[in-house]
Amino acid sequence: MIEADVAVIGAGIAGVGAAYELSASASVVLLEQEREPAYHTTGRSAAMFLTSYGGERVGPLTAASRPVFDRVGTLLRPRPWLVLRDPAGPDGGHEAADGDSLEPLSPAEALALCPVLRPEWTEGAMLERSAQEIDVLGLHQHFLGGARRRGVRVHLSTEVLAGHRDRGSWLLDTTAGPVRVAAVVDAAGAWADVIATRLGIEPIGLTPLVRTAAVARYSAADQNWPLVGDLAETFYFRPEGQGLLISPADETPADPHDARAEELAVALALERVNAATTLGLRSVSTAWAGLRTFTPDRDPVVGPDPAEPSFCWLAGQGGFGIQTAPELSRLAASAVLNGTGEIPEALSVARFRDA
Ligand SMILES: Cc1cc2nc3c(=O)[nH]c(=O)nc-3n(C[C@H](O)[C@H](O)[C@H](O)COP(=O)(O)OP(=O)(O)OC[C@H]3O[C@@H](n4cnc5c(N)ncnc54)[C@H](O)[C@@H]3O)c2cc1C
Repeated sequence: MIEADVAVIGAGIAGVGAAYELSASASVVLLEQEREPAYHTTGRSAAMFLTSYGGERVGPLTAASRPVFDRVGTLLRPRPWLVLRDPAGPDGGHEAADGDSLEPLSPAEALALCPVLRPEWTEGAMLERSAQEIDVLGLHQHFLGGARRRGVRVHLSTEVLAGHRDRGSWLLDTTAGPVRVAAVVDAAGAWADVIATRLGIEPIGLTPLVRTAAVARYSAADQNWPLVGDLAETFYFRPEGQGLLISPADETPADPHDARAEELAVALALERVNAATTLGLRSVSTAWAGLRTFTPDRDPVVGPDPAEPSFCWLAGQGGFGIQTAPELSRLAASAVLNGTGEIPEALSVARFRDA
């Protein structure tokens, strides 16, 4: 029988962050169904830190996470974010966040940053000058290595199959045998509602949305080009190794699964990037897809379930789960150790239950 104070389910960025934060004051087991951690969404992101992304509730989480990135020291490198307006499209898309730092650019300034833009796409461009590219695996390793050093036991290839309350604690049934803990943190990404259901907790209504990315062959990219995307979020690209990381910014609802890139989505990414630039991209060297999982209001959910306070949610991180991981992990750990005091109402589970 594995025993601990807390079981964290899922070893993506959310789970390792929570395990790290909790391990300062509790004994923790980290349970991951895959043979390696960060196999799902965490290992498949575009690795950006964008202060102006995600809306008014996400902005403060991103800002509060920044000191951790800075303290570790090697996790960020400058990659400004250039936001274009589709000359033929509607304006909407960007929801201003707290600390929003998008500044207007002239067409000449936009072209100076990325000379392959078609001139008609440079009207009304904006720039987040302070945006950064994240060393995602570096952050994951910072949390996981730190957690291990503080005694967290990591069980890979360990799927949580079921669980119930038993004599005042949780008894989990896993593929590695029974686990007894006082509290559970559900950091299972696209599977967070599945975990809740398996443990007899009411699901929230999370929706995993497939997002595709690929590396297009293009050897002449300037490594200093910004991340370039459009306001309505229908594509983006940035330098990546010897090519360009491209995405059609797709959002296709799916059940939790091991997502794969569809040829059509990759073709759409090539087409949309080519429509805004003179790049003339034709093929990709690699492509992948991941599940960005959203709550019904697209803000993340963190903290204890009102029906069972020893079950803590840490889910719905959508397209901002890396850049907000330090602060969301800290909030989850604080909720488990000290109660709900620090959890803003707008991020709590109660907002869904009341409705
Ligand atoms: C293409 C793409 C681009 C993105 N770009 C960015 C970006 O630029 N910046 C940013 O901040 N975010 C970005 N994101 C979002 C970010 O990647 C996610 O928000 C984040 O990785 C979610 O982390 P997680 O730990 O919740 O989920 P995951 O990494 O999916 O981890 C959940 C883990 O739970 C495990 N699990 C599930 N069920 C069980 C079970 N029953 N038992 C045990 N373990 C279980 C899974 O195996 C998995 O390892 C992007 C995502 C995609 C797909």
